[in-house]
Order: sequence, then structure tokens, then C-alpha cells
Amino acid sequence: SAEAVPQAPEDPLFGLVRAFKADQHPTKVDVSVGAYRDNTAKPWVLPVVKKVRTLLSGIGFPLAPLLHVCGHTVYAISVADEILRNDPNLDHEYAPIAGIASFTSKAAELILGSGSPAIPEKRVTSVQTISGTGAVHLGALFLSRFFTGTKKVYVSNPTWVNHNQIFSNVGIPVAQYPYFSKQTKGLDFDGMKAALAEAPERSIILLHACAHNPTGVDPTLDQWKEIATLIRQKNHFPFFDTAYQGFATGDLKKDNAAVRYFVEQGFELVIAQSFAKNFGLYGERAGCFHFVTSPAPDASETVTRVASQLAILQRSEISNPPLYGARIVSTVLNDPQLFAEWEENLRTMSGRIIEMRKVLRAKLEELGTPGTWNHITDQIGMFSFTGLTEPQVLKIREEAHVYMTKNGRISMAGLNTNNIDYFAKAVDKVVRE
Ligand code: PMP
Repeated sequence: SAEAVPQAPEDPLFGLVRAFKADQHPTKVDVSVGAYRDNTAKPWVLPVVKKVRTLLSGIGFPLAPLLHVCGHTVYAISVADEILRNDPNLDHEYAPIAGIASFTSKAAELILGSGSPAIPEKRVTSVQTISGTGAVHLGALFLSRFFTGTKKVYVSNPTWVNHNQIFSNVGIPVAQYPYFSKQTKGLDFDGMKAALAEAPERSIILLHACAHNPTGVDPTLDQWKEIATLIRQKNHFPFFDTAYQGFATGDLKKDNAAVRYFVEQGFELVIAQSFAKNFGLYGERAGCFHFVTSPAPDASETVTRVASQLAILQRSEISNPPLYGARIVSTVLNDPQLFAEWEENLRTMSGRIIEMRKVLRAKLEELGTPGTWNHITDQIGMFSFTGLTEPQVLKIREEAHVYMTKNGRISMAGLNTNNIDYFAKAVDKVVRE
């Protein structure tokens, strides 16, 4: 009976969110959750998303009158506006099992690069998923059924916590490779390479495409090249997780450099892609899973067979992916003008975070806080691994009402010009105690 079901522990991150909400302290600071906040600590709906939302709701823009012709007003209509107004399919019917094609094809172009030969060579198949989590899950499920190598996935230590449970849930054991050096607060490259070399032949290697969560530490392109060589030597299978393209540096091409390099090298690989952060569409669950095969005469047949199996897995799990978020993303990715506006929005988000990194480091150095703080500006993306210990994390929560995860990770987006002084002083105090 259900009496035998044991109580599971609360998700630590969402438990923290609850505690923060209940805290009545006027200067409380939330640096726990990986969601962008503007300089007033509020969620930010990207202006380009707002614009597309208006279009999708059927209201359209308050169009600017362009000129008057014979007593009639002629309006300027953007390309996207035209697409949406004339789209007879803008109803609430089911999406195809693999998702909206205009979304998945552009999503593939975005991560692989629009000039990637893998696309015209039909070496890619893409399935729309329930955001990045669903994409990691679909990839894991697919590999649990069809991967012929060592069914074991190596994830970085540390990694996004959900990786462990997603792979375990489909019966793929999880092992770790060293990643973060406590000494340098940078990459433990030697440790990582040694572990990849020691892993059983043809293991699955999970890699964060950019802006590693939780450390903010990424390999350089030269280091990626060495990693690729090692993976090739051991015939390992790369599984890329990309949740921060464009969000990390503001440059979409910089943030997919690792994936592009691996595809250029002809690897067969998979990619789990999220649009939660770079579109600010967290709750809409827009994501995509891509399978890319190596160049070969029968590559397109391989892809067709893989696609057929992915469709069966998708059907049994969610039948059809959700429309709304994918429609927003698709509209932007398919319209050059909206795309340029999106890039501008990405620069706003990444720019503010980069600025907060600079200010935080400067403040800690100014205060003479014991330790070195260059890692704050060396690390990139949403998160920073501060190096604070668990007792310090608990203390700063208790004494200063600053909420971060136990591993000392902070979401840079939680900092702003109003609270960064307070935050830096709180860190300074707890480090000295
Ligand atoms: N992978 C990584 C590394 C992440 O940080 C995240 C978001 N926290 C995800 C995947 C997926 O998030 P979502 O399901 O919200 O797209």
C-alpha cells in the first residue's frame, strides 16, 4: 500500500526559495535561483518576447501610421507581423510529435551555426522537448535504449544537480570527472583529463557547452580541443548540455564554439538545448534535443532511423510538446529584425551580469576581504562559485539574510546596484569570522 512510500526530501533549491519568501528581513538577498533579475531584483520579460507575445495574442502592434493614401491610413507592418497575421495555423491544435518544425530547424541552426555542413548533409535530427530538462531526459532515455557503448555517464564534479537524477532514473549509472579546483577556483584540467582517459572505453561524457552550472568555469577553446582529442582516443560519446547560449557572453557564436568544434571534428553526439535563460521563458518549457551523426554515406538513413525511435519515445512520454514558448522562440529566430532585437536583449542581460562581477570583485578587494577574488570575474554566465564553505553559507543566511546554495554558488543575477554593497560586506564579515 501507499503507506510504504517513504517521505522524500524537499528539493534543496526550491526549499531555499520558500525560505527566502518567508523571510521578512528588509535587506534580504536572493542569490540562489538561476533566473535573471533586472537591477530592481525583478524578473525581466525580454522586450522582444513582449513584442511577440502581443502579436501572438492577436492584438498586433499599435501600428505606426506610415502615410495617408486617398484618405486611407497605410501602416508599416513588420515581417514577423505579417507571418503571424497570415498564419492560419495559429490555433491550439496539437503540435507534431517532434514539435514545430520552424522552431526545431532554427534551434539546430542556432547551436550548430547556420553554416554547419551537418544540416545540408542531413546529419541532424531534432525533437522539441519540455525545455532543457526534457531534452536531457529524452537524450538519456534514448541512450538507455540504444547506446551500444558503456552505459555509464560521466558528469563534471560538481554539475547541475538534476543531471544525476535524470540519468539514474533511466538506469544509466552516473560517475564523475574532476572539474573544479578548490585551490584556483578554476578548471581542474589535469584531473578532468585523467578521468576521461581512465573511463571505460566508449562511455557517455556529459559536457556543459558554456557557462558551466554551478561553477561558471569553462574550458578555453584550446582546452576543448584537448578534451575532444581525448574523447576521440577513448571513443567516448559526447552529450552536450546547452542552457546559456548568448546569455553567457552576449555573443551567440562565442557561446556555441565548443559544440561547433566537436561537430567540425565529425563526432557523433547529442545536444540538450534550453531556451529558458536566453529567452527568459523559464516556465514556458521551450527546449530541443538534437542528434548529430558523423559524416558517412549512410548518415541520412541513420538519422531517419534515430528520428523514428525518438518519435516513439516522445509519444509515450508527452505525445506532443507545448506550443506557446516554441512559437515565441520560432518567431524571433525566423525574423532577422526580431533576431537582432533578441541579441540586443541578450547583451543587456549578460552585460549587467558582467558588470556585477566587476563591481563585486572590486568591492571585496577594496574591503581587503581575505583570499583572492579574481575568480569572480574569471568565471562566466549566471553563476559564480564563491569558495564560501557550507558553514559560511549557513552563517551568512542566518546573520545577513543572504540566500545561496550550500556549495557556495551564487546567481550573479541576484545582485544589483542596490544590494551589492550590502552583499559584499556580508561576505567580508563571514569570511573574517
Ligand atoms: N542544464 C543546465 C546545466 C541548467 O543549468 C539548466 C537550468 N537550470 C538546464 C539544463 C535546464 O533547465 P530548463 O529545464 O529550465 O530548461
